[in-house]
Amino acid sequence: MPLNEFDIISKYFANTELAFGAKELVLGIGDDCAIFTPEPNEQLVVSMDMLVEGVHFLENSDPTLLGQRSLLVNLSDLAAMGARPLFFTLAVSLPEVDERWLEGFSKGLATVARANSCPLVGGDTTSSHPKRGGRTLCIQVHGAVPKGKALTRGGAQVGDSVYVSGTIGDSAAGLQLLQGPDTRGLSDQQQEFLHCAFYQPESRISLGIALRELASAAIDISDGLASDLGHIIASSRVGASVDTDRLPISEAFKAMVPEEARTEIALGGGDDYELCFTIAPRHEEALRKRCSQLGVTVTRIGQIDLEPGLRWKKQGEELKLDIKGYRHFEAARRLVNG
Ligand code: ADP
Ligand code: MG
Repeated sequence: MPLNEFDIISKYFANTELAFGAKELVLGIGDDCAIFTPEPNEQLVVSMDMLVEGVHFLENSDPTLLGQRSLLVNLSDLAAMGARPLFFTLAVSLPEVDERWLEGFSKGLATVARANSCPLVGGDTTSSHPKRGGRTLCIQVHGAVPKGKALTRGGAQVGDSVYVSGTIGDSAAGLQLLQGPDTRGLSDQQQEFLHCAFYQPESRISLGIALRELASAAIDISDGLASDLGHIIASSRVGASVDTDRLPISEAFKAMVPEEARTEIALGGGDDYELCFTIAPRHEEALRKRCSQLGVTVTRIGQIDLEPGLRWKKQGEELKLDIKGYRHFEAARRLVNG
């Protein structure tokens, strides 16, 4: 007999590596609601992300990698706020009971949940339309920050430097690799690196926590640096100029993407899940120290100025670029089914 909803919850979510205890957690999966006791002097930080088959992930995605990615992209929002993860909830809508898929997905989630001390505490499990419905995965993460210490998009000041963590564009290049047979002669190692950038973006939680005391504004890069830095300047009512020669890109990205397309893809590709943040010059020395302790690379790519809008520079000259990040309902980027 195929498993029903409650069997699925019990076997793949409730009684697994995912449902571990946490300090504030009083009651986890199994009742009508989970219960937790917030720490005094902390604020709750909540975010939700939905991943839709064919839009955010390929139909034939490895379920373990998909589980990792689903939670990592959500944790990235907590990182951008400087929050520490508390726990998460999960809603899944599935066209069929595929135990191999469920097992892999649950394992992938558990790896990331454990590594980030973020247990699963509840959710919902439903069937989708058997013919038209693909899988839909919806995760809500809950985190905490000391009162008044959350980083937002709105605090950038004229004169601040603009930084980005890690390298950008790798995930977009990884997606290209996943979609097409043309590997452009990349080494196995380079291919692996780009696949990892897509499926296992680094958790930037520790960096986000460190930035609470240092940065003036932050965002995680999900739609592409151009679009996401655009959100910072809009919320902060400032402008920014970015030196495109300084954009941190990897050797694997260079091997995959022809030179003339690199800037556009690095700025517009999206799915990087790195942090873009602004910081007053007086904090930059402390930032360098903290990042070297954490083993995180950050690169100064530009500065905040008074003139509204984003300006791109290359070798000191202004560069005209028309980059739009990914917007649902607007662009034609679909992973499958045209
Ligand atoms: P209710 O009908 O009261 O909303 P459900 O029958 O949907 O509860 O779920 C039973 C329990 O299992 C609840 O504690 C719920 O949070 C949990 N649950 C359901 N689906 C999931 C899931 N995908 N992941 C984690 N917990 C889940
Ligand atoms: Mg109920």
